[in-house]
Amino acid sequence: MVVKKNGVLILLIFVFISVDLFSQVIKKVEPPFWFSGLQEKSLQLMVYGDRISTYDVSCNIAGIITGTAKTENPNYLFIDLVIPKDLNQTIVKFDFYKNKKKVETLNYEIKPKNKEGNRNRGFANEDVIYLLMPDRFSNGDVTNDNSDKMHEKASRNNPDGRHGGDIKGIINQLDYIKEFGATTIWITPLLENNQPKYTYHGYAISNYYQVDPRFGTNENYVELVTNAHQKDLKIIMDVVLNHCGSGHWWMNDLPATDWVHQYDDFTRSNYRSEVVQDPYASMIDKKLQNDGWFDMNMPDLNQKNKLLANYLIQNTIWWIEYAGIDGIRLDTQPYSDKDMVAQWAKRIQDEYPSLTIIGEAWLQEISHTAYWQKNELNFDGYNSNIPVVTDFPMHYAIENAFNEEHSWTNGISRLYYILSQDFLYDNPMNTIVFLDNHDLTRIFSSFDKDINKLKLAIAFQLTTRGIPSVFYGTEILKEGFAHEAHGIMRSDFPGGWPGDSKNAFTPEGKTDQQKEIYNYYKNILDWRKTKPVIHSGKLIHFIPENNIYVYFRYNENDCIMVILNNNSTQQTLKTNHFSEILINYKSGFDIVSTSEIQNLKEIKLPAKGAMIIELKH
Ligand code: CA
Repeated sequence: MVVKKNGVLILLIFVFISVDLFSQVIKKVEPPFWFSGLQEKSLQLMVYGDRISTYDVSCNIAGIITGTAKTENPNYLFIDLVIPKDLNQTIVKFDFYKNKKKVETLNYEIKPKNKEGNRNRGFANEDVIYLLMPDRFSNGDVTNDNSDKMHEKASRNNPDGRHGGDIKGIINQLDYIKEFGATTIWITPLLENNQPKYTYHGYAISNYYQVDPRFGTNENYVELVTNAHQKDLKIIMDVVLNHCGSGHWWMNDLPATDWVHQYDDFTRSNYRSEVVQDPYASMIDKKLQNDGWFDMNMPDLNQKNKLLANYLIQNTIWWIEYAGIDGIRLDTQPYSDKDMVAQWAKRIQDEYPSLTIIGEAWLQEISHTAYWQKNELNFDGYNSNIPVVTDFPMHYAIENAFNEEHSWTNGISRLYYILSQDFLYDNPMNTIVFLDNHDLTRIFSSFDKDINKLKLAIAFQLTTRGIPSVFYGTEILKEGFAHEAHGIMRSDFPGGWPGDSKNAFTPEGKTDQQKEIYNYYKNILDWRKTKPVIHSGKLIHFIPENNIYVYFRYNENDCIMVILNNNSTQQTLKTNHFSEILINYKSGFDIVSTSEIQNLKEIKLPAKGAMIIELKH
């Protein structure tokens, strides 16, 4: 570009910056770029290159470098920086010297923090999450189904193979998700998984800064978030701190011997996270839980290594700032070093106070689950700083509630017992309530394909406390048992692939039974959106009797009566037992059957069915 200034021609030369292209010695720099204007000014660059730690480094801006750190592997150099508040340039130059002779210059980009609104908004009880696996949802770009750079090729006939779904497919179906009634989308990991096989799930990350090319590009991810925000939908990123993939580039040349937990023979986690609280736990059980590998292809990262901890924390901040995401779901929360996780969560919330973090605390008991929630009064003083936890105890209770015979403790009594222990949580509203998810048997299969059991479960899920999460395909009665094959319960959404014989994204492509359950879900979801009494109202419930569970949600303005009749016959409910609430009301409107309830003294209940009654004075 040529410009004229004071009659003199000045030649401006634009140089393209890329950490991948410029160098001889330096092979990688991570993070690949950074941001100015963040609350936290410090940054630690990881520079990888042949004997890079034997070089001296200087910067063209005085005072930016505050120190360097080295490990026993000379191919890594960690440079500590402080980004000045008033940095007015976007390229910072680092010169590398050998024997006082300049060998190489690294041009490092610092972008200003994005100040647009509508980013990093977080989610709460008014929201409903739609959980999807990108490989199995919608294939919007068949040209990226395979990549020359990736080992595993597409194989749609293999339940455990890659099927070709991608980011473009999700963008194409945003209207479907919004129309269904969800407000927030949790997408299982999209980052590169360059493993030989079984990569579609995304939990064996081989590059923490790159979207898997079979899902699209980093730019496609930003496009997805931007498109979602335009439609008033929010995006949750699935973050994995506990382990990386065995195909990660650093596994060939580890930054430090203690970067991952290493064993002579493959050593698996015992997956018993209860040992963290168990007063009688043995050393070996604790060690295996935290330091064992999650799977053969998932090396266990050692977050006690401060350089790795920094790396992982910065990586999450980078994605939040780069893509503008609204929430994070942390995979395998209790398996990582818990102090590092607490530090990670605090740093994120200090920088992005409105963003929401969910921790996957997959435990059977409420006492064990509650330990992992922010501000919990724990016996050892531990505070995870993670506000929302997954409510697995509730999931198991729901599964059993509508399958078992009613008794003092079993059947629908389970819902009562679970909620009666909510005093164990610092905030029981900050729990994710789900019927199934990507690791569990599909709820329609758990319910032996009984659509009435599913309707009862949906009515409960959408009216109890917490934040509901719907696994893609539950709304069209997807089936599959976890113990048979994960790849089957995570099967393709019909209509997501060009040439699919049925398109269940459309009303015409659904069977009558699929339409019935989709509409049942959608009806309550649409209603729920407009009901603060369900989002934040108080809950009062009554001990189930005669296989019928009754509870109310109420606030200053509204009162909702929910009745779950788990009997296979119609019932007449005499309501004098509930007079402490009903004394104030004369009639109601059941939003499930869309009918007026004139007589609140005796309510006719449908067989194996739910009523959600808006009470009227
Ligand atoms: Ca594709």
